[in-house]
Formats: sequence, structure tokens, C-alpha cells
Amino acid sequence: MESRYNPALIEAKWQQAWAEKGLDKTPTNRDQPKFYALSMFPYPSGSLHMGHVRNYVITDVIARLKRMQGYRVLQPMGWDAFGLPAENAAIERGIPPAEWTYQNIAQMRQQLQPLGLSIDWSREVTTCSPDYYKWTQWIFLQFLKAGLAYQREAAVNWDPIDQTVLANEQVDNEGRSWRSGAKVERKLLRQWFLKITDYAEQLLNDLDKLKGWPERVKLMQANWIGKSVGAYLEFPIVGMAEKIAVYTTRPDTVYGVTYVVLAPEHPLTRLVATPEQQTAVEAFIQEVSSQSELERTAEDKPKRGILTGGKVINPFTAEEIPIWIADYVLYEYGTGAVMGVPAHDTRDFQFAQAYQLPINVVIVPPEDFARLKDLDEDEDEATVHLVAYANAYTEPGILINSGPFNDMASTEAKEAIVQYAQVQGFGKARIQYRLRDWLISRQRYWGTPIPVIHCPKCGTVPVPEADLPVRLPEDVAFTGRGLSPLAQLDRWVNLPCPTCGMPAKRETDTMDTFIDSSWYFLRYPDANNDQQAFDPAKTNDWMPVDQYVGGIEHAILHLLYSRFFTKVLRDSPLSLLKEVAGGSSSEPLSGDRSASQGLLNFDEPFQRLLTQGMVQGTTYKNPVTGKYIPQVQVDPGDPRDPETGKPLEVFYEKMSKSKYNGVEPQQVLAKYGADTARMFILFKAPPEKDLEWDDADVKGQFRFLNHVWRLVSDFSAGRPISSQPLTTKEKDLRRAIHIAIAKVTEDLEGEYQFNTAVSELMKLSNALADANCKDSPVYAEGIKTLLLLLAPFAPHIADELWHLHGHTDSIHTQTWPKVDPNALIAEKIPLVIQIMGKTRGTIQVPAQADRQALEQYARESEVAQRYIEGREIRKVIVVPGKLVNFVVA
Ligand SMILES: [Zn+2]
Repeated sequence: MESRYNPALIEAKWQQAWAEKGLDKTPTNRDQPKFYALSMFPYPSGSLHMGHVRNYVITDVIARLKRMQGYRVLQPMGWDAFGLPAENAAIERGIPPAEWTYQNIAQMRQQLQPLGLSIDWSREVTTCSPDYYKWTQWIFLQFLKAGLAYQREAAVNWDPIDQTVLANEQVDNEGRSWRSGAKVERKLLRQWFLKITDYAEQLLNDLDKLKGWPERVKLMQANWIGKSVGAYLEFPIVGMAEKIAVYTTRPDTVYGVTYVVLAPEHPLTRLVATPEQQTAVEAFIQEVSSQSELERTAEDKPKRGILTGGKVINPFTAEEIPIWIADYVLYEYGTGAVMGVPAHDTRDFQFAQAYQLPINVVIVPPEDFARLKDLDEDEDEATVHLVAYANAYTEPGILINSGPFNDMASTEAKEAIVQYAQVQGFGKARIQYRLRDWLISRQRYWGTPIPVIHCPKCGTVPVPEADLPVRLPEDVAFTGRGLSPLAQLDRWVNLPCPTCGMPAKRETDTMDTFIDSSWYFLRYPDANNDQQAFDPAKTNDWMPVDQYVGGIEHAILHLLYSRFFTKVLRDSPLSLLKEVAGGSSSEPLSGDRSASQGLLNFDEPFQRLLTQGMVQGTTYKNPVTGKYIPQVQVDPGDPRDPETGKPLEVFYEKMSKSKYNGVEPQQVLAKYGADTARMFILFKAPPEKDLEWDDADVKGQFRFLNHVWRLVSDFSAGRPISSQPLTTKEKDLRRAIHIAIAKVTEDLEGEYQFNTAVSELMKLSNALADANCKDSPVYAEGIKTLLLLLAPFAPHIADELWHLHGHTDSIHTQTWPKVDPNALIAEKIPLVIQIMGKTRGTIQVPAQADRQALEQYARESEVAQRYIEGREIRKVIVVPGKLVNFVVA
């Protein structure tokens, strides 16, 4: 037996052995219950960071545990490989995006290897591979057939110097191009959208089904969908046939409208502008067009607007009120027009104050309403005009100054006002969502080409499914200027129309990379299928994902889009599949799916979601200059700026290159091995909390594994199991063993409290070290249990020690230990002895002793006799299981 724990020797050996035995392969039989453990797949940046390591280790512990608990487990890995950085690398360094991406993938796959993750690499998925994006294109065509993909004009970021479209990430905080530095303009282009709004209600309601999701993620999704119930109202324009439509969630404030605002892009803007205002309005529109949506709607920014000169009539009061245009109203959202109620909306209040617009109070808090009523019944109308507030009153209340709706409460008034508008024909109730359709067009190269052909005669023609994939051409020049690289390739763009044969052109937009990641989890169950996106029988068997693990930054978009895709593919007609499926989908589908439904037989893709916290590193910052100082230049005992000698600020922050506070996974692995790194990551913080990297604690885990190593190395088989009853010492040790099984198992259920589970492992190893029955079969049971419980956390050392003890099959194919309830029953429990309420000592008593027996043990105890010293006992208070208190004279 080896005497020293040497992770470098054993870890590579076991990784190879597991691969040779195919231990990580996904079982194909269906006898056992399934468990699909999934980490959010990474973008192949080329270097693995600690955030990745934490994510994959968490998923791996769960996968290994579930295998030992008798599940067939699917734990795959892949690459979210399309995207801007590859294209930027091509522009800056002349490396083709594909080459750059595949190099990075190879590098990251190599960096993942030493972590000992039980991943089934035969199901690797790479979104930029034609084998994958062929099916992304196929799914897009299903959306198109179902009427869920359409084109319309939308604004893009336009660099006027390089004459190119920029992604949002390529525009800096000041609204300038990353490359040319030019002030970015907004330009309208015809682009592709997916109709996610058709599913808004379902995406909202089905959040209730997600019992295993963090509440805050569900709340973020609900807010993003942003359902509101309100009213659609029309204001006739003075002197014109047109009306301005507005949407409001507060129809009860309609008598307080003192102006109406149009978005500058609204088609009515130029029509309502009077001749004297025309020039100013035009200049304002131009100015606003260069601002991003974010700049325009920022809360801390002053709202800017201009009078058009036009007027509308408030249909409730018949009053004429002015029409403004303002930057904070967006044409993309709602009707592109809002009614201004400065008395009851904070933003309108600021705007009215800035431009001296009237502020009419029409809602008052109930207490003010009572006071007003007391003032003077006869002068009601006159008095209420005196009510004014220093800020907008935005809460519901009682209506005043509102004609026939006076004295009504807001809730009641909302309904009455909407009903009145409906009867009069100028309004109706309407449910609205903040969620907008998903703009998926990108004027970039490194993405999935949208499989559509534009024919002057036939219009938009889908690429026939037999012609998929539409491949990305490889001989492309990347300059970062002009049209997208695809649009500049005439030989790729021009082709005969597949329908009529006339000269036609390919769509040159590629898809948002969020589309690639909206269905990758459906591909893993059948990753190598070249006939279909996936065989529904296989995907329905494995889906939904039982445990999804990833960062909170994906709480909204990725998870929402994946839920949307799942629902669409559930609904799509089965006939669509048969066109490409051939015979292979004739296998009967599992589950209770009826023939009229689509490809999937479930509503939600991710049963449980764990959003792991960040990994933070020690950060040194000069508080005066704001400069970050690399760790290597600082003495941790007395952190000072090496240049100025001034003391530095020290704190924990998310690891990042720019803050020099990162810890390279490779360095930690080289020094301590994967098992220690895994143990530290799991022990240091609960998985959903931020983790502060601490070298001392890493060493602590290394020491613990060394302790386990010695404990197991020193162990020799001992005497065989006999029919002799267990001694007290053996019973105590056996209880410690089964408490550990119970607690570790409980910690790994549901909430995954890995940190407390590791603490339990430490307790068990201490109990074994302290045991003085090391030749007992109970001790042997303890050593075996410790290794089994350790296996998901530190898989290499566990398998090594398992084999050193004569086992020939892997520890990872063993069954998770079960609790013996009999072992948990305590023989003796501690009993506190008190004299006059003061604790004087503790004695051990039989656990099942009754009141009378407890009093007897206490009276006879050395502690009681010493402190009572012959005084008279007046009263004895017995609290079973806890204490005996003597009241003495
Ligand atoms: Zn045609």
C-alpha cells in the first residue's frame, strides 16, 4: 500500500480507467428511472475559469450521486459556439471564425479533462457545426410554417463611418462604435422576428408549474413578460379624421389628462405638427434617432420633448389638449403614444414640471377625500381644485374632478370608465404584455444562416428541407466594414428560386445565437441523429431535464427562450416531422402523448433549476487612484500599492482579468489535484451563494483528504463479522456511521447543501479516527461507508482507496449506502444535573429511562451528592431527555 496521498499519480489513472470502461456512457436500457443532469453549456472562449469549474462540479456531484442511487443518468456537454468574439478575432487577427472556435473548443475540452467529470462525450453538441445548425434551420422552418416567424422593419445600430450594422455589444456606453469610434445612428432594416408574444400568457402561467426553480428567477421572468390589465383609449385629433390610440393601466385617471405624447417615430408625428413647429419637430426626430432605447428611457435622465402644435380632444371631458413628442416614449412599445397624467404618474409629473404643463388632481387618498368632504359640501368643485401635491400621487384612491365617476374608488372607476368608453365607441379593456416579439436577425457572419430565399416573383421562399443545411461559406473576407460578409459574397447570395427558377437571392441575415441554445438540451438525448433534429421517442424519454445548473445571468433570456421553443415544438403538427423523419420515428412514443400533438410531450424543459453563485477572488485596489493591483505584487499581510506605498483596499469581487483577482483552475489542479479543488468548491459555500476563494481553505480540504488517505491506508481487514452482540463502543460508532449516511443523503436531496454534507464526512472520519474498536466489523463498515459517501465529491481518491482494499469493480458502480434505522437509536443520552437551577454537571443515562429512573440516576450521581452535601431536597424537577433540577433547603 502506498504511504503518501499523491493526486497527480492517481487522478489521470482513474480518468483513463473510467473512460476505458465506459462508466460515463449513458445507459440505453430503460429499466431504471432516468435522471438528466445538465450544466449550461459554455461559450468556447478558449480558457476555462473558476466559474465554469464550479458549475460543472456541482452538476457532476449530482450526476454521480444519482447513478449510485440507481438512476440511469445523462450528463452531456457541448459548446455554444456561434457569436461575435470569433468574428472580432477574424477582423482583428485574420483567423477564420471556424478555426478560432474549434481551436478554443479543443483547448477547453482539454482543460475540462483533469476535473474528473463523468460526462458522456459521445453526445457532444457544437452549435456551429453544420450537423447541428442544419436542425436549427429546420426548426426555424417549422416556426415559419406555423406562422411564428415573420419579417418587419426594426431599428439597428448603424456605424456611419464603416457603413456597417453593429451589435449592441459593439456600441460603448457613450453610444460610439467599438471600431471606428463613430457616433452610432439608428437605422431601420427589414428583419426577422419570432412571435414569442403568442405564448406570453402560457409562459407566465406555467411559471407556477416550476416548483424546483428559485422564486427570484420566476419573479424576474414574470416581470419580463410584464402582464398588465388596462384600457385602450382613442383621442380624436382636432381637425383630422385620425385618432391617437393610447394604452393605460390607469383609466381611472383619464380626467387628469393634460397632454398626449407621441413617440418621435410615430407615423402621426409629422402629420399633427403645425407648419410653424415643423422644422423644430424634424430636428428633434433626427436628434432622438441617434439615441439607444436605454439612453432614452433611463430613469435618472431628464425627459425631453417638444410641442407639435397639434391638439386632440379628451373624449371624456371634450377638452382640447396639446400633442407633444418626447424621447421617453418608444414606438416599439404599446401604441407608441401615452396620455400625460402629471398628477398621478411620476414620469409625467417631471415632464409637466419641466415644461410648465397643467397638473390636474383627479385621485385623492381616502383620508384626504374625507377631509375635503367635511370642508364645504356646496363648494365641492371649487375646493378640490385647491388640492395639490408636491409629487405625483400614484396610489389608487377616490376619484374627484371626474364628472359622473366622482366619489368612486379607483378599482370600481377603472371598470366603469372602460365600460363607458366601450359603449361610446372610443375604447375597450385590453391585456398587455411588456414582452415583445423576439428580433432574431443579425447582420453578421458567424451564426446560423436563416434558410430563406427572396424571389422577385414568389416573395419569401423557404429553402427546401432537402437542401439543408444552408452552409456558411468559408472563403470570406472580414473587414468590419460595409455590409455583412455574407451579403458581400455574390456567388453565395445569387441562386435560382427553388419554386420558379427565376434569379433570386439568399437571406444574408444569420440568427441570434440564443436560438442555438434554445433547443440544444433536446439534441443531447439523440445527439448523433443525421435524419432528424432528434427522435421524439428518445428525447421525450429523457426530457425534461431533472436538474439544470447555470448562472443567474441567464435567468431571463436563455431560460425564457428555451421554454418558448419547448412549447412551440410541443404544439407543432406531427406531420411536419414525417417529411424528414423517414421510418425511424415510427417507434411508439413514451408518455401519455396523443397523436394530434407535436414533437414533445411535456410543457416545461427544466424541472429543477440551480443558479450557482459567483466565484470571487481577493481584490486589491488603490482607493485614491481606483487602480487594481495584481495579487503577486502585494504582501497579503500588509497590502500596499507597490508604486505609491499607500495602503490598499482589500475585498472580494467576481474573478476577472481586469481586476487581477482570478485563480487559474490549472494551477490549483497542478498543486492539489481535482479532488481537493472539488471538495473546496463544494465545502466553501452553499451552491447558490457567492464563493470567496481562500487558499487556506483549499489547503484545509487537501489535509482532510490526506487524513482520509491515512485512515484507510492504516486499516486492515480486522476480525470477521460474528454473531456476538455489539459492544457499547461498537454501537456508538455504528450510530455515527448511520447518522452520517442519513445527513449526507438528506443534504443531497432537493436543495443540495453540499457544504454541510462535506462537514458530515469530516465528522464521520473523525469518529473513525477516534474509535477504539478498529478490529471490529463495525469499523470496517465505517471505512467502506466513508468511501461510498465520499465518491461523488472526490471521485478519484475514493476509487483508489476502494481498490486498495481489494475491490475489483469501480466505487462508482456501487449502491449508495442505506440508513439502518435500528443503528440510529441512542443507547445513552446526556442528562444535565442542576442544583437550584444552576448546571453543575452532566451524566450519561440509558436513552429509554423514564421519569422515575431519571430522578434515581440523578440522585445517585456524584455531581448531585457533591453539591447537595446532605441538605434537604425540597423538590425535584425532571425534564425527560434533558435535565433534573434539585431544589434544596
Ligand atoms: Zn420564385
